[in-house]
Amino acid sequence: MMAWQGIEGHDAIAAEFARAHARGRVAGTYLFIGPPGVGKGMFARRLAKALTCAAPRAGLVACESCASCVQAEAGSHPDIDVVQKPEDKATIPIDLLIGDADHRMREGLCWRLLLKPAVGGRKVAVILDADQLAEEAANCLLKTLEEPPPEAVIILVGTALERQLPTIRSRCQIVRFRPLAADEIVRVLRGEPAARQLDGERLAACAASAGGSLDRARQLLDDELMAFRAALFRILGTRPLRGVDLAREVLAVVDAAGKEAPPRRARLRTVLDSALDFFRAAIRQDATGQQPAEAALTAAVASWHGDGERAATCLAHTLDALDGIERNAYLPILVDAWTALLEEPRLAQSS
Ligand SMILES: [Zn+2]
Repeated sequence: MMAWQGIEGHDAIAAEFARAHARGRVAGTYLFIGPPGVGKGMFARRLAKALTCAAPRAGLVACESCASCVQAEAGSHPDIDVVQKPEDKATIPIDLLIGDADHRMREGLCWRLLLKPAVGGRKVAVILDADQLAEEAANCLLKTLEEPPPEAVIILVGTALERQLPTIRSRCQIVRFRPLAADEIVRVLRGEPAARQLDGERLAACAASAGGSLDRARQLLDDELMAFRAALFRILGTRPLRGVDLAREVLAVVDAAGKEAPPRRARLRTVLDSALDFFRAAIRQDATGQQPAEAALTAAVASWHGDGERAATCLAHTLDALDGIERNAYLPILVDAWTALLEEPRLAQSS
């Protein structure tokens, strides 16, 4: 079966939208929730294209040939607005929503939504990185979310419901995206140039270690990162843990990405995600005696036997470090702090 508009794993959600569309009951505001790297942003963009298409096919599939589809594909559709957190910012700037200080409510996404559709009958706004919507920016959005213009659809894309402000949450229809299955990840990777020369076994290993995330799977296509996953498990499984050694190894992997910030952050994210896999496996084994399925984890996790509580604290520190990447923290300091906390895990002071 073909996946909906080439997006693996979310056909059931697409079918819901198609039903709502057929009945003329598409809502004004949606909040997409789900782990990173499963295709929520891509789904939102393709949905925007289908919703603005002049003649969508059955199942709410864009025709790909009308003027609206052509503009949507080129990223120049006047009625499709996509906003995301700039790479060098910690949050979504308020200017993107309501214009800068000199153009308040004369520019920005909220203002553009008030304009009549230029091409078809509908306007779609997509706000990626909704987790990084600070309170001031969220407040600007509230009125728009409360009373969206009749022909507008606003889609916010975030990772966890708890990360959204209650005022935003309560005004949106929630759509939950699940992690992708390993075979779905393999199907996507097979169509990508970076994976073409890899054999089936290597692809399957990538997919199995990716925790349902396409982004992670793509990172793990890199032999160095895949090898470091096993090395990391060995370091984490060696007790006592030496924070300084771990920091040096992790920074070497990050530095190998070069000087550009985005690939450096992506690499560190992959390393921290692997550490999360380790601590989750350690917690599970301590609580249930269940051994991890991944061979590289089995021996390493065994040394944490009886230490589930410590693993839980380390897990929390690792989640904090991942947050630090999103907040644009300086990576060498972030890695030093994280590894020091793993060496001597302590619960964060409540602030
Ligand atoms: Zn079309």
